[in-house]
Amino acid sequence: MAETGAQNNPFEIAKKQIDIVAKVINLNDGIREILKAPKRELTVNFPVRMDSGEYRVFTGYRVQYNMARGPTKGGIRYHPQVTLDEVRALSAWMTWKCSVMNLPYGGAKGGVICDPKHMSKGELERLTRRFASEIAPIIGPEMDVPAPDVYTDSQTMAWIMDTYSMLKGYSVPGVVTGKPIAIGGSEGRGEATGRGCMYAIREAAKRQGLKTKGATVAVQGFGNAGSVVANLASKELGVKVVAVSDSRGGIMNTKDGLDIAKVEAHKQKTGQVEGFPGAQKISNEDLLKLDVDVLIPAALENQITSKNASLIKAKIVAEAANGPTTPEADEVLFKNHITVLPDILANAGGVTVSYFEWVQDLQGYFWTEKDVNERLESVMSASYRAVADSAEKYGVNNRTGAYAIAVERVANAIRLRGIYP
Ligand code: NAD
Repeated sequence: MAETGAQNNPFEIAKKQIDIVAKVINLNDGIREILKAPKRELTVNFPVRMDSGEYRVFTGYRVQYNMARGPTKGGIRYHPQVTLDEVRALSAWMTWKCSVMNLPYGGAKGGVICDPKHMSKGELERLTRRFASEIAPIIGPEMDVPAPDVYTDSQTMAWIMDTYSMLKGYSVPGVVTGKPIAIGGSEGRGEATGRGCMYAIREAAKRQGLKTKGATVAVQGFGNAGSVVANLASKELGVKVVAVSDSRGGIMNTKDGLDIAKVEAHKQKTGQVEGFPGAQKISNEDLLKLDVDVLIPAALENQITSKNASLIKAKIVAEAANGPTTPEADEVLFKNHITVLPDILANAGGVTVSYFEWVQDLQGYFWTEKDVNERLESVMSASYRAVADSAEKYGVNNRTGAYAIAVERVANAIRLRGIYP
Protein backbone atom coordinates (compact mmCIF):
# COMPACT_ATOMS: atom_id res chain seq x y z
CA MET A 1 0.00 0.00 0.00
CA ALA A 2 1.44 3.36 -0.99
CA GLU A 3 1.31 6.15 1.55
CA THR A 4 -0.12 8.89 -0.60
CA GLY A 5 -3.71 8.42 0.58
CA ALA A 6 -5.17 11.09 -1.68
CA GLN A 7 -3.90 9.40 -4.84
CA ASN A 8 -4.85 5.98 -3.63
CA ASN A 9 -8.28 4.61 -4.28
CA PRO A 10 -9.71 4.17 -0.77
CA PHE A 11 -11.87 1.24 -1.81
CA GLU A 12 -8.82 -0.62 -3.13
CA ILE A 13 -7.20 -0.04 0.28
CA ALA A 14 -10.33 -1.29 2.07
CA LYS A 15 -10.26 -4.48 -0.04
CA LYS A 16 -6.55 -5.03 0.59
CA GLN A 17 -7.19 -4.76 4.31
CA ILE A 18 -9.68 -7.62 4.01
CA ASP A 19 -7.09 -9.73 2.16
CA ILE A 20 -4.53 -9.10 4.92
CA VAL A 21 -6.84 -10.08 7.74
CA ALA A 22 -8.25 -13.03 5.76
CA LYS A 23 -4.78 -14.62 5.90
CA VAL A 24 -4.47 -14.01 9.65
CA ILE A 25 -7.81 -15.66 10.46
CA ASN A 26 -7.63 -18.21 7.66
CA LEU A 27 -10.88 -17.06 6.07
CA ASN A 28 -12.68 -19.14 3.47
CA ASP A 29 -12.12 -17.70 -0.05
CA GLY A 30 -15.83 -17.56 -0.90
CA ILE A 31 -16.65 -15.55 2.21
CA ARG A 32 -13.70 -13.29 1.52
CA GLU A 33 -15.17 -12.48 -1.91
CA ILE A 34 -18.56 -11.70 -0.33
CA LEU A 35 -16.85 -9.35 2.15
CA LYS A 36 -15.02 -7.51 -0.62
CA ALA A 37 -18.17 -6.37 -2.42
CA PRO A 38 -20.76 -3.84 -1.20
CA LYS A 39 -24.18 -5.46 -0.99
CA ARG A 40 -26.22 -2.54 -2.32
CA GLU A 41 -25.38 0.80 -3.93
CA LEU A 42 -27.77 3.56 -4.91
CA THR A 43 -26.74 6.54 -7.05
CA VAL A 44 -29.25 9.36 -7.35
CA ASN A 45 -29.21 12.49 -9.52
CA PHE A 46 -31.72 15.02 -8.32
CA PRO A 47 -32.64 18.65 -8.92
CA VAL A 48 -32.63 21.39 -6.29
CA ARG A 49 -34.09 24.87 -6.68
CA MET A 50 -31.34 27.32 -5.76
CA ASP A 51 -31.99 30.73 -4.18
CA SER A 52 -31.42 32.35 -7.58
CA GLY A 53 -34.44 30.47 -8.96
CA GLU A 54 -32.22 28.22 -11.14
CA TYR A 55 -32.33 24.43 -10.93
CA ARG A 56 -29.14 22.50 -10.27
CA VAL A 57 -28.71 18.75 -10.48
CA PHE A 58 -26.74 17.07 -7.68
CA THR A 59 -25.41 13.53 -7.42
CA GLY A 60 -25.62 11.52 -4.20
CA TYR A 61 -24.80 7.99 -3.07
CA ARG A 62 -25.87 5.56 -0.40
CA VAL A 63 -23.88 2.34 -0.09
CA GLN A 64 -24.97 -0.48 2.22
CA TYR A 65 -21.90 -2.64 2.56
CA ASN A 66 -23.05 -5.62 4.57
CA MET A 67 -26.16 -6.33 6.62
CA ALA A 68 -25.49 -9.85 7.88
CA ARG A 69 -25.42 -8.63 11.51
CA GLY A 70 -28.30 -6.14 11.38
CA PRO A 71 -29.47 -2.88 9.81
CA THR A 72 -26.67 -0.84 8.27
CA LYS A 73 -25.32 2.27 9.97
CA GLY A 74 -23.17 5.13 8.77
CA GLY A 75 -22.95 8.85 8.17
CA ILE A 76 -23.82 11.09 5.23
CA ARG A 77 -21.19 13.59 4.11
CA TYR A 78 -21.55 16.69 1.97
CA HIS A 79 -18.34 17.51 0.12
CA PRO A 80 -17.25 18.56 -3.39
CA GLN A 81 -14.85 15.61 -3.63
CA VAL A 82 -17.21 12.79 -2.67
CA THR A 83 -16.76 9.76 -4.95
CA LEU A 84 -18.55 6.43 -5.09
CA ASP A 85 -15.33 4.56 -4.25
CA GLU A 86 -14.77 6.75 -1.20
CA VAL A 87 -18.32 6.06 0.00
CA ARG A 88 -17.80 2.32 -0.62
CA ALA A 89 -14.61 2.33 1.46
CA LEU A 90 -16.23 4.29 4.26
CA SER A 91 -19.16 1.87 4.27
CA ALA A 92 -16.76 -1.08 4.59
CA TRP A 93 -14.95 0.64 7.49
CA MET A 94 -18.31 1.27 9.21
CA THR A 95 -19.03 -2.45 8.88
CA TRP A 96 -15.83 -3.30 10.76
CA LYS A 97 -16.30 -0.53 13.32
CA CYS A 98 -19.84 -1.68 14.23
CA SER A 99 -18.69 -5.29 14.31
CA VAL A 100 -15.64 -4.76 16.52
CA MET A 101 -17.87 -2.92 19.00
CA ASN A 102 -20.32 -5.82 18.79
CA LEU A 103 -23.20 -3.52 17.83
CA PRO A 104 -26.01 -5.38 16.02
CA TYR A 105 -25.38 -3.41 12.83
CA GLY A 106 -23.85 -3.67 9.42
CA GLY A 107 -22.09 -0.72 7.79
CA ALA A 108 -23.21 1.93 5.31
CA LYS A 109 -22.21 5.39 4.18
CA GLY A 110 -23.68 8.15 2.06
CA GLY A 111 -22.52 11.29 0.36
CA VAL A 112 -23.65 14.15 -1.83
CA ILE A 113 -21.28 15.98 -4.18
CA CYS A 114 -21.82 19.61 -3.21
CA ASP A 115 -20.03 22.55 -1.63
CA PRO A 116 -21.96 23.29 1.57
CA LYS A 117 -19.70 26.25 2.40
CA HIS A 118 -21.16 28.05 -0.61
CA MET A 119 -24.81 27.16 -0.08
CA SER A 120 -27.46 28.97 1.95
CA LYS A 121 -29.35 27.25 4.76
CA GLY A 122 -32.45 27.12 2.57
CA GLU A 123 -30.53 25.48 -0.29
CA LEU A 124 -29.03 22.94 2.12
CA GLU A 125 -32.47 22.15 3.52
CA ARG A 126 -33.95 21.61 0.04
CA LEU A 127 -30.95 19.49 -1.00
CA THR A 128 -31.21 17.40 2.18
CA ARG A 129 -34.96 16.86 1.90
CA ARG A 130 -34.77 15.86 -1.76
CA PHE A 131 -31.80 13.54 -1.16
CA ALA A 132 -33.67 12.01 1.80
CA SER A 133 -36.71 11.32 -0.43
CA GLU A 134 -34.47 9.81 -3.12
CA ILE A 135 -32.87 7.35 -0.67
CA ALA A 136 -36.08 6.83 1.38
CA PRO A 137 -36.84 3.46 -0.29
CA ILE A 138 -33.67 1.96 1.20
CA ILE A 139 -33.37 3.66 4.60
CA GLY A 140 -35.40 3.10 7.78
CA PRO A 141 -34.96 1.95 11.38
CA GLU A 142 -34.94 -1.73 10.37
CA MET A 143 -32.91 -1.24 7.22
CA ASP A 144 -30.32 1.52 7.21
CA VAL A 145 -29.82 4.33 9.73
CA PRO A 146 -27.83 7.42 8.59
CA ALA A 147 -25.97 9.83 10.91
CA PRO A 148 -23.96 13.06 10.56
CA ASP A 149 -20.50 13.09 8.97
CA VAL A 150 -18.32 15.74 7.30
CA TYR A 151 -20.35 19.00 6.89
CA THR A 152 -23.62 17.49 8.07
CA ASP A 153 -24.95 17.91 11.61
CA SER A 154 -27.93 17.46 13.93
CA GLN A 155 -29.98 19.93 11.87
CA THR A 156 -29.36 17.86 8.72
CA MET A 157 -30.55 14.78 10.64
CA ALA A 158 -33.67 16.64 11.81
CA TRP A 159 -34.55 17.43 8.17
CA ILE A 160 -34.01 13.81 7.09
CA MET A 161 -36.10 12.53 10.00
CA ASP A 162 -38.89 14.97 9.15
CA THR A 163 -38.84 14.18 5.41
CA TYR A 164 -38.92 10.43 6.02
CA SER A 165 -41.71 10.88 8.58
CA MET A 166 -43.77 12.97 6.12
CA LEU A 167 -43.47 10.20 3.52
CA LYS A 168 -44.62 7.61 6.09
CA GLY A 169 -47.37 9.72 7.61
CA TYR A 170 -46.11 9.34 11.18
CA SER A 171 -42.94 10.26 13.14
CA VAL A 172 -40.05 7.85 12.71
CA PRO A 173 -37.25 9.11 14.97
CA GLY A 174 -35.24 5.86 14.63
CA VAL A 175 -34.50 6.50 10.93
CA VAL A 176 -31.41 8.60 11.78
CA THR A 177 -29.15 9.21 14.78
CA GLY A 178 -27.31 12.33 15.85
CA LYS A 179 -30.65 14.18 16.05
CA PRO A 180 -31.34 17.07 18.42
CA ILE A 181 -32.46 15.78 21.85
CA ALA A 182 -35.85 17.52 21.45
CA ILE A 183 -36.84 15.12 18.65
CA GLY A 184 -35.40 11.83 19.91
CA GLY A 185 -31.65 12.41 20.15
CA SER A 186 -29.65 10.92 23.02
CA GLU A 187 -28.05 12.48 26.05
CA GLY A 188 -24.28 12.11 25.89
CA ARG A 189 -24.08 11.92 22.07
CA GLY A 190 -22.15 15.20 21.76
CA GLU A 191 -19.17 14.06 23.79
CA ALA A 192 -19.45 10.31 23.08
CA THR A 193 -16.45 10.02 20.75
CA GLY A 194 -14.05 11.75 23.14
CA ARG A 195 -15.49 9.95 26.16
CA GLY A 196 -15.17 6.57 24.46
CA CYS A 197 -11.57 7.35 23.51
CA MET A 198 -10.83 8.26 27.13
CA TYR A 199 -12.16 4.87 28.31
CA ALA A 200 -10.05 3.06 25.70
CA ILE A 201 -6.92 4.89 26.90
CA ARG A 202 -7.73 4.04 30.51
CA GLU A 203 -8.08 0.34 29.69
CA ALA A 204 -4.89 0.25 27.60
CA ALA A 205 -2.94 2.00 30.37
CA LYS A 206 -4.27 -0.49 32.91
CA ARG A 207 -3.21 -3.42 30.75
CA GLN A 208 0.34 -2.18 30.37
CA GLY A 209 0.74 -1.01 33.95
CA LEU A 210 0.87 2.69 33.11
CA LYS A 211 -0.55 4.93 35.84
CA THR A 212 -2.88 7.50 34.26
CA LYS A 213 -2.64 9.94 37.17
CA GLY A 214 0.07 12.36 36.11
CA ALA A 215 0.64 10.60 32.74
CA THR A 216 1.53 13.12 30.03
CA VAL A 217 -0.69 13.57 26.97
CA ALA A 218 -0.44 15.46 23.66
CA VAL A 219 -3.51 16.03 21.47
CA GLN A 220 -3.30 16.95 17.79
CA GLY A 221 -6.59 18.60 16.75
CA PHE A 222 -8.54 20.44 19.45
CA GLY A 223 -11.98 19.98 17.84
CA ASN A 224 -15.06 18.01 18.84
CA ALA A 225 -13.23 14.73 19.44
CA GLY A 226 -9.85 16.11 20.62
CA SER A 227 -11.03 18.77 23.07
CA VAL A 228 -13.47 16.37 24.75
CA VAL A 229 -10.89 13.63 25.23
CA ALA A 230 -8.36 16.19 26.55
CA ASN A 231 -10.92 17.57 28.96
CA LEU A 232 -12.27 14.24 30.24
CA ALA A 233 -8.87 12.57 30.48
CA SER A 234 -7.59 15.38 32.68
CA LYS A 235 -10.76 15.52 34.80
CA GLU A 236 -11.50 11.80 35.13
CA LEU A 237 -8.11 10.11 34.71
CA GLY A 238 -5.91 12.83 36.21
CA VAL A 239 -3.58 12.98 33.20
CA LYS A 240 -1.45 16.04 32.49
CA VAL A 241 -2.21 17.38 29.01
CA VAL A 242 1.04 19.07 27.99
CA ALA A 243 0.29 20.02 24.37
CA VAL A 244 -2.70 20.61 22.09
CA SER A 245 -3.02 21.99 18.56
CA ASP A 246 -5.44 23.02 15.85
CA SER A 247 -5.05 23.80 12.16
CA ARG A 248 -3.22 27.06 12.95
CA GLY A 249 -0.60 25.52 15.25
CA GLY A 250 -0.07 24.20 18.74
CA ILE A 251 0.78 25.15 22.31
CA MET A 252 2.64 23.33 25.06
CA ASN A 253 3.56 23.55 28.70
CA THR A 254 5.56 20.49 29.63
CA LYS A 255 6.28 21.65 33.17
CA ASP A 256 2.82 22.37 34.56
CA GLY A 257 0.54 21.04 31.84
CA LEU A 258 -2.34 23.01 30.29
CA ASP A 259 -5.59 23.91 32.02
CA ILE A 260 -7.91 22.45 29.39
CA ALA A 261 -11.05 24.32 30.49
CA LYS A 262 -9.12 27.57 30.12
CA VAL A 263 -7.70 26.52 26.73
CA GLU A 264 -11.26 25.79 25.60
CA ALA A 265 -12.40 29.24 26.71
CA HIS A 266 -9.40 30.82 24.92
CA LYS A 267 -10.19 28.88 21.72
CA GLN A 268 -13.83 29.99 21.89
CA LYS A 269 -12.83 33.60 22.28
CA THR A 270 -9.99 33.79 19.74
CA GLY A 271 -10.77 30.89 17.39
CA GLN A 272 -7.38 29.25 18.00
CA VAL A 273 -5.30 27.66 20.75
CA GLU A 274 -2.21 29.69 19.92
CA GLY A 275 -1.65 32.73 22.11
CA PHE A 276 -2.82 30.90 25.25
CA PRO A 277 -1.11 32.65 28.18
CA GLY A 278 1.81 30.79 29.77
CA ALA A 279 2.26 28.27 26.95
CA GLN A 280 4.99 27.94 24.35
CA LYS A 281 4.31 27.52 20.64
CA ILE A 282 4.80 24.13 19.01
CA SER A 283 4.18 23.03 15.42
CA ASN A 284 1.77 20.20 14.59
CA GLU A 285 4.69 18.15 13.28
CA ASP A 286 6.76 18.57 16.48
CA LEU A 287 3.79 17.87 18.72
CA LEU A 288 3.67 14.33 17.35
CA LYS A 289 7.28 13.72 18.41
CA LEU A 290 6.92 14.92 22.02
CA ASP A 291 8.15 12.62 24.77
CA VAL A 292 4.72 11.92 26.25
CA ASP A 293 2.96 8.82 27.57
CA VAL A 294 -0.10 9.17 25.33
CA LEU A 295 -0.40 10.78 21.90
CA ILE A 296 -3.90 11.45 20.57
CA PRO A 297 -4.14 12.27 16.85
CA ALA A 298 -7.61 13.85 16.62
CA ALA A 299 -7.45 15.86 13.39
CA LEU A 300 -6.76 14.40 9.96
CA GLU A 301 -5.71 11.24 8.18
CA ASN A 302 -2.08 10.34 7.34
CA GLN A 303 -0.35 12.23 10.15
CA ILE A 304 1.91 9.41 11.35
CA THR A 305 3.78 8.14 8.30
CA SER A 306 7.01 6.30 7.44
CA LYS A 307 8.73 9.70 7.67
CA ASN A 308 8.01 10.37 11.34
CA ALA A 309 6.92 7.03 12.83
CA SER A 310 10.40 6.21 14.14
CA LEU A 311 10.42 9.56 15.98
CA ILE A 312 7.22 8.90 17.94
CA LYS A 313 8.06 8.50 21.62
CA ALA A 314 4.59 8.00 23.13
CA LYS A 315 3.79 4.66 24.77
CA ILE A 316 0.17 4.74 23.58
CA VAL A 317 -1.20 6.28 20.38
CA ALA A 318 -5.00 6.64 20.63
CA GLU A 319 -6.55 7.30 17.22
CA ALA A 320 -9.46 9.65 17.89
CA ALA A 321 -9.21 10.64 14.21
CA ASN A 322 -10.00 8.28 11.35
CA GLY A 323 -6.95 6.95 9.53
CA PRO A 324 -4.18 9.05 11.16
CA THR A 325 -1.56 6.27 10.82
CA THR A 326 -0.41 4.83 7.49
CA PRO A 327 0.16 1.07 7.14
CA GLU A 328 3.93 1.61 6.86
CA ALA A 329 3.97 3.68 10.04
CA ASP A 330 1.90 0.98 11.77
CA GLU A 331 4.70 -1.51 11.21
CA VAL A 332 7.31 0.86 12.66
CA LEU A 333 5.21 1.58 15.75
CA PHE A 334 4.58 -2.13 16.30
CA LYS A 335 8.30 -2.87 16.04
CA ASN A 336 8.99 -0.10 18.57
CA HIS A 337 6.46 -1.61 21.02
CA ILE A 338 4.14 1.39 20.85
CA THR A 339 0.53 0.47 21.56
CA VAL A 340 -1.83 1.82 18.92
CA LEU A 341 -5.53 2.02 19.77
CA PRO A 342 -6.91 1.79 16.22
CA ASP A 343 -9.56 4.22 14.99
CA ILE A 344 -12.28 1.59 14.59
CA LEU A 345 -12.01 1.07 18.36
CA ALA A 346 -10.69 4.37 19.75
CA ASN A 347 -13.26 6.64 18.09
CA ALA A 348 -16.20 4.21 18.14
CA GLY A 349 -17.81 5.92 21.15
CA GLY A 350 -19.79 8.04 18.67
CA VAL A 351 -21.39 5.15 16.81
CA THR A 352 -21.94 3.29 20.09
CA VAL A 353 -24.03 6.14 21.51
CA SER A 354 -25.75 6.40 18.09
CA TYR A 355 -26.75 2.79 18.66
CA PHE A 356 -28.07 3.77 22.12
CA GLU A 357 -30.03 6.61 20.49
CA TRP A 358 -31.66 4.17 18.06
CA VAL A 359 -32.50 1.73 20.89
CA GLN A 360 -34.10 4.57 22.89
CA ASP A 361 -36.08 5.73 19.84
CA LEU A 362 -37.38 2.21 19.17
CA GLN A 363 -38.39 1.80 22.82
CA GLY A 364 -39.73 5.33 23.17
CA TYR A 365 -37.97 5.34 26.53
CA PHE A 366 -35.08 7.71 27.16
CA TRP A 367 -32.09 7.24 29.42
CA THR A 368 -30.24 9.69 31.65
CA GLU A 369 -26.77 10.88 30.69
CA LYS A 370 -25.40 8.74 33.52
CA ASP A 371 -27.04 5.61 32.05
CA VAL A 372 -25.65 6.41 28.61
CA ASN A 373 -22.12 6.97 29.92
CA GLU A 374 -22.12 3.81 32.04
CA ARG A 375 -23.26 1.70 29.12
CA LEU A 376 -20.66 3.35 26.86
CA GLU A 377 -17.96 2.59 29.42
CA SER A 378 -18.96 -1.04 29.53
CA VAL A 379 -19.01 -1.44 25.71
CA MET A 380 -15.66 0.38 25.28
CA SER A 381 -13.91 -1.62 28.00
CA ALA A 382 -15.16 -4.96 26.71
CA SER A 383 -14.22 -4.09 23.13
CA TYR A 384 -10.75 -2.92 24.13
CA ARG A 385 -10.10 -6.16 26.01
CA ALA A 386 -11.34 -8.24 23.08
CA VAL A 387 -9.04 -6.35 20.68
CA ALA A 388 -5.98 -6.64 22.92
CA ASP A 389 -6.65 -10.38 23.45
CA SER A 390 -7.07 -10.91 19.71
CA ALA A 391 -3.80 -9.08 18.96
CA GLU A 392 -2.01 -11.28 21.49
CA LYS A 393 -3.61 -14.46 20.17
CA TYR A 394 -2.52 -13.81 16.57
CA GLY A 395 0.76 -12.04 17.44
CA VAL A 396 -0.26 -8.95 15.46
CA ASN A 397 -0.80 -5.25 16.20
CA ASN A 398 -4.07 -4.00 17.70
CA ARG A 399 -5.37 -2.82 14.33
CA THR A 400 -5.09 -6.25 12.79
CA GLY A 401 -6.39 -7.73 16.04
CA ALA A 402 -9.45 -5.49 15.77
CA TYR A 403 -10.00 -6.34 12.10
CA ALA A 404 -9.66 -10.04 12.91
CA ILE A 405 -12.54 -9.83 15.41
CA ALA A 406 -14.66 -7.63 13.18
CA VAL A 407 -14.26 -9.67 10.00
CA GLU A 408 -14.67 -12.97 11.83
CA ARG A 409 -17.96 -11.82 13.40
CA VAL A 410 -19.41 -10.79 10.03
CA ALA A 411 -18.12 -13.97 8.39
CA ASN A 412 -19.69 -16.05 11.12
CA ALA A 413 -23.06 -14.33 10.65
CA ILE A 414 -22.87 -15.06 6.91
CA ARG A 415 -22.00 -18.70 7.58
CA LEU A 416 -24.85 -19.15 10.06
CA ARG A 417 -27.42 -17.47 7.83
CA GLY A 418 -26.26 -19.35 4.74
CA ILE A 419 -26.56 -18.16 1.18
CA TYR A 420 -30.05 -17.47 -0.16
CA PRO A 421 -31.68 -19.27 -1.95
P1 NAD B 1 -13.55 19.03 14.23
O1 NAD B 1 -13.69 19.75 12.96
O2 NAD B 1 -14.45 19.37 15.39
O3 NAD B 1 -12.06 19.16 14.78
C1 NAD B 1 -10.93 18.99 14.01
C2 NAD B 1 -9.79 19.77 14.67
O4 NAD B 1 -8.58 19.50 13.98
C3 NAD B 1 -9.99 21.29 14.62
O5 NAD B 1 -9.60 21.83 15.85
C4 NAD B 1 -9.02 21.72 13.52
O6 NAD B 1 -8.54 23.04 13.71
C5 NAD B 1 -7.94 20.72 13.70
N1 NAD B 1 -7.07 20.57 12.53
C6 NAD B 1 -7.39 20.64 11.22
N2 NAD B 1 -6.30 20.47 10.47
C7 NAD B 1 -5.28 20.27 11.33
C8 NAD B 1 -3.90 20.04 11.17
N3 NAD B 1 -3.33 20.00 9.96
N4 NAD B 1 -3.16 19.86 12.27
C9 NAD B 1 -3.71 19.92 13.50
N5 NAD B 1 -5.00 20.14 13.71
C10 NAD B 1 -5.77 20.32 12.63
O7 NAD B 1 -13.68 17.49 13.85
P2 NAD B 1 -13.94 16.25 14.81
O8 NAD B 1 -15.38 15.89 14.75
O9 NAD B 1 -13.29 16.46 16.12
O10 NAD B 1 -13.16 15.12 13.99
C11 NAD B 1 -11.76 14.95 14.09
C12 NAD B 1 -11.40 13.54 13.67
O11 NAD B 1 -12.10 12.62 14.49
C13 NAD B 1 -11.78 13.20 12.22
O12 NAD B 1 -10.82 12.29 11.71
C14 NAD B 1 -13.10 12.48 12.39
O13 NAD B 1 -13.36 11.61 11.31
C15 NAD B 1 -12.83 11.74 13.67
N6 NAD B 1 -14.06 11.30 14.32
C16 NAD B 1 -14.91 12.18 14.90
C17 NAD B 1 -16.07 11.74 15.48
C18 NAD B 1 -17.03 12.67 16.16
O14 NAD B 1 -18.02 12.20 16.72
N7 NAD B 1 -16.77 13.98 16.19
C19 NAD B 1 -16.39 10.36 15.47
C20 NAD B 1 -15.50 9.47 14.87
C21 NAD B 1 -14.33 9.95 14.30
